[in-house]
Amino acid sequence: MARKVQVIKCICCSQEIKPLDRISNKKDIEQNMWCDGEVSTIMPGYGSRYDMTLFYIGICDDCIEEKLKEKVLVIKKEYYENF
Ligand SMILES: [Zn+2]
Repeated sequence: MARKVQVIKCICCSQEIKPLDRISNKKDIEQNMWCDGEVSTIMPGYGSRYDMTLFYIGICDDCIEEKLKEKVLVIKKEYYENF
């Protein structure tokens, strides 16, 4: 059963990541636009002890920048490239 989540915090620094505005405060929070960060879902697969569990995960823009420099976070594709 899906749980209602009120606040998403950055997985690195615990700073709160808030919806961009009231319009984007949708029931399904992963469809929101976020201010200075991103919230998405991850679902580990077979082989993980969390197989079949769907998580919300948030990361703020400051931590995205830092983790890119540290090469902990890797860009898969830029938006302007063809999806
Ligand atoms: Zn952060």
